[in-house]
Amino acid sequence: MKVIVPVKRVVDFNVKVRVKADETGVDIAHVKMSMNPFDEIAVEEAVRLKEAGHVNEIVAVSCGATPVQEVLRHALALGADRAIWVNTGEVDVQPLAVASLLKALADREKPALFILGKQAIDDDANQTGQMLAGLLGCAQASCAFRVQVINAASDAARIEVTREVDGGLETVALTLPAVITADLRLNEPRYVTLPNIIKAKKKPLETLNATELGVDITPRLQILKVKEPAKRPGGIKVQDVNTLIERLKHDSVL
Ligand code: AMP
Repeated sequence: MKVIVPVKRVVDFNVKVRVKADETGVDIAHVKMSMNPFDEIAVEEAVRLKEAGHVNEIVAVSCGATPVQEVLRHALALGADRAIWVNTGEVDVQPLAVASLLKALADREKPALFILGKQAIDDDANQTGQMLAGLLGCAQASCAFRVQVINAASDAARIEVTREVDGGLETVALTLPAVITADLRLNEPRYVTLPNIIKAKKKPLETLNATELGVDITPRLQILKVKEPAKRPGGIKVQDVNTLIERLKHDSVL
């Protein structure tokens, strides 16, 4: 079975971003960029499914400008077999555009499974996997905590996904093709080794663009304003527990 893993280049999770003075967005000039952490988990899951013999090819895909090739090389070093860079230039590719590009790729590649991250940590949209499943008209399981392939080689192949839901875990069965989005506790991604980084340089990386895929990537949403969160007022010290309880009851600031 073939798996496609879409990976996004985002501001590294350790970076504390700052809002631009004109409030049009956050300043990403000269900040460290990395693969979206949920996408590392998605790649790791695909690699584990391959190691278990359920998957025979992993294709990593990224949509964006030239630098997204870095995250594709990272996915190849983690264990993807080949990569596709969908060059969208400097256009801000929003979830519906990414989902539409992935749908067009699915028509060419015919994967049995997509594993995406639950959300990209830059815009926190949490939309692409759901939109993709909608466009494909196929089964989906978001927020995957555990993935189990049943009867992989047969026509009756299905995937059981345990999902983190409010107050517990829910297990669902999906027929293929299907879309899964990876949650934080699905696995712990491996470290990339130097030999694998070197091997990744030789793995194939194909380039396509939105026009070749027949997809209109024009943004549909306009960001009106981005603001820093309100500053928290400073704390106070109280002499004893009784005063604390009184203040908690009556002081709206606490
Ligand atoms: P989002 O809906 O933006 O929160 O993103 C959810 C997931 O969709 C990410 O974790 C990626 O797996 C995938 N994704 C989003 N944007 C891109 C992109 N530009 N290129 C490739 N995959 C993407």
